[in-house]
Amino acid sequence: MQELFPTSSRGPAVRVLMDGMDDMVFDYAVPPDIGELVQRGCRVEVPLRHRTATGTVITLISPEDTDQSRNLKSVLRVVGNEPVISAQLMELAEWAARYYAVPMEQMVRCIVPESVRSEKHEEKTRKIVVLQNWPDDAEMNKINSRAPRQAAILRYLHSDDSKRAPLNDLGGNAALAPSRALAKKGLVRIEDEQIHRDPAGSETFTLSQPLELNGEQAQALATIQTTFDAGDSKPMLLQGVTGSGKTEVYLQAAAHALSKGKGVLILVPEISLTPQTMARFKSRFADMPGSVAILHSAMSDGERFDEWHAIHRGQARIAIGPRSAVFAPVRNLGLIIVDEEHDSSYKQESAPRYHGRDLAVLRAKLEGATILLGSATPSLESLHNVEQGKYTMLRMDRRADGQRLPLTRVLDMRSEPKDKRYLGIISEKLRLAIEERMHKGEQVILLLNRRGFARSLQCPDCGYVVHCEHCALPLTYHLPENRLVCHICGYRAVVPKRCPECHSDKILLEGYGTQKVEAVLRRCFPKTRIQRVDADVTTRKHALRDILDDFRARRIDILLGTQMISKGLDFPGVTLVGVLNADLGLCIPDPRAAERTFQLLTQVAGRAGRGEIDGEVIIQTYTPQAAAIQFARRHDTDGFAEKELALRRQFGFPPYSHMAVLTVRSPKEELADFSIQTLCKKLRRALPDNIEISDPMPAPIAKSHGQFRFMSTLRGPSARPIADVCARELSYFKTAEDIICTLDIDAYSFM
Ligand code: ADP
Ligand code: ZN
Ligand code: ZN
Repeated sequence: MQELFPTSSRGPAVRVLMDGMDDMVFDYAVPPDIGELVQRGCRVEVPLRHRTATGTVITLISPEDTDQSRNLKSVLRVVGNEPVISAQLMELAEWAARYYAVPMEQMVRCIVPESVRSEKHEEKTRKIVVLQNWPDDAEMNKINSRAPRQAAILRYLHSDDSKRAPLNDLGGNAALAPSRALAKKGLVRIEDEQIHRDPAGSETFTLSQPLELNGEQAQALATIQTTFDAGDSKPMLLQGVTGSGKTEVYLQAAAHALSKGKGVLILVPEISLTPQTMARFKSRFADMPGSVAILHSAMSDGERFDEWHAIHRGQARIAIGPRSAVFAPVRNLGLIIVDEEHDSSYKQESAPRYHGRDLAVLRAKLEGATILLGSATPSLESLHNVEQGKYTMLRMDRRADGQRLPLTRVLDMRSEPKDKRYLGIISEKLRLAIEERMHKGEQVILLLNRRGFARSLQCPDCGYVVHCEHCALPLTYHLPENRLVCHICGYRAVVPKRCPECHSDKILLEGYGTQKVEAVLRRCFPKTRIQRVDADVTTRKHALRDILDDFRARRIDILLGTQMISKGLDFPGVTLVGVLNADLGLCIPDPRAAERTFQLLTQVAGRAGRGEIDGEVIIQTYTPQAAAIQFARRHDTDGFAEKELALRRQFGFPPYSHMAVLTVRSPKEELADFSIQTLCKKLRRALPDNIEISDPMPAPIAKSHGQFRFMSTLRGPSARPIADVCARELSYFKTAEDIICTLDIDAYSFM
């Protein structure tokens, strides 16, 4: 084999991400004769042991950097006429790989899914038989007697309006020989037809006409169009209250970009990728069949392959998907829209831990595209960027349909009468309010905030929560050592026996889950149709869609769920939204806890009163005075942002700093503990002075999946030095086999 694949001694080389090998990378030399063709992002055939294999070029290695001691085998040939990944996307990947301190191959894997890269899923074609000529009577008689199958096929085709039928309808493979015989006689033609596996299935969409925009919408659209026409990449932030008609603005902005021959990319939170959102886009562009491609995680490999290639070929001009769609190969990209830009699902919580919105902003810059971020409750990061003049603010403060924002009542659970049978989960007032809605035949959404994974201490009598002296964030209870720990700075405190505020001795708070609440609800409202929605229920494909369909069709009265049901859904029948435990989201050691709670409450309140009847929102809480709750009650995003930004600045939290989380996991507790201690010592020496690193500590989720988890947080004015130093030190750090170290840059989870 050696002669067949000559080794080169000196010259350029490439790193190739291999297909179908768990994403291994190997380096290959580039022979001079194909040197020009071998670019980043192109597909190549390479020798591998005693066979050939295919892969994607992810890095060009210059002759100086090529390891002379190794005899590299050479690339055999380039596959296809153009790179499968564009130069700009490769640049985006390279930037992201460095920023998030991950190997390039990990980023490239996100850009082109394995199923697409390895082309295992050849585009499927099917055979179609088309009637060309009807035989004269004599011939037909002959066929009838000698070849009844052929005759049957002819008759079948003749009876069909389009005079054609898929081979499958004619009897599948058994019909192939007779069809071929008919083709020889010149009576039929056999064609290959491509089947496009559309995730929207066989659904048809009726064309929807653009709505006449109201003043606020028209003004927002005008600014977007001007920015687009100028080719300006300065991001725009559209802050529009729930129901202000942001989607209509997106649709018309997309239509504008298409009319100028540009492609459009629309990012939505994973959970909003409901048929409802899909249908709104498919319908608006129904006169351009195939122009809208949907990418999402529930797709089969085949569907993903087809949609990806439709976008890559330039057939689909609009790509819609969750965070990973930020890498969709949209041609001539002109406009990017990030809906619900504050949503935490844009942050990937497994490697590579990138942020879809942040990469979208970068991609717009790299490709000279216009970018629009939209939300009713923008992230403080984006609002901060507006303040700094980096983003342009567009506002829509009124609901498009003239409906009022729902009236919100905050119930102070410390003093509300509660029926013992209902375990304090539902107050008497909320129960009565639900009962009233049920009598009127209206619908109710109940939200259970389940972010409260970590235990914090809250007094059920006065609402007091034990906080860190340095960070003003809740301390987390650790059972084995019976201590309270701050997961941001490492501060430790003893557990108070009595509430420091009111001296109650009931201070330990027990959490509860959706199933328990469901049981209580069924006891409360035995004749009501109740449906629970949480991660357990929605593991089945289409389960969420089916439930939401049932709810819309009013086959369900009460929908009980986690944050999953708070976003982007539009149900006219819902007149009451109840939040069972607004506090739990506040009691977690996370600098964004208040922001998330505010966003959740505001978004969920936006679900009420979308129809003719005014909506009502009831929030149960032990801390009614909390800013997140009070500002949400008044739908006051500006007020909340101002107050929260001031706090963030005071404590040096994002967006006034970048924070990263270093995690070490192992089935052996001591090993994990020892490793993180050693690692942190090394990092402390290597990091520049303006980067703080906390003492290592057990993570709030101290053990999961049989692994002990330890963490340390890093904080500094920018993320780059953190990523660079950690990437270097982690690569030197020799870990034992059963140790896993991960670094999360711009972390959104501190658990
Ligand atoms: P948002 O995404 O801002 O929460 P939506 O786009 O869902 O709001 O719009 C809320 C409702 O208002 C939808 O039913 C939508 O059809 C309607 N709507 C939007 N724009 C207009 C308009 N210009 N005129 C009338 N109705 C509108
Ligand atoms: Zn108390
Ligand atoms: Zn602290």
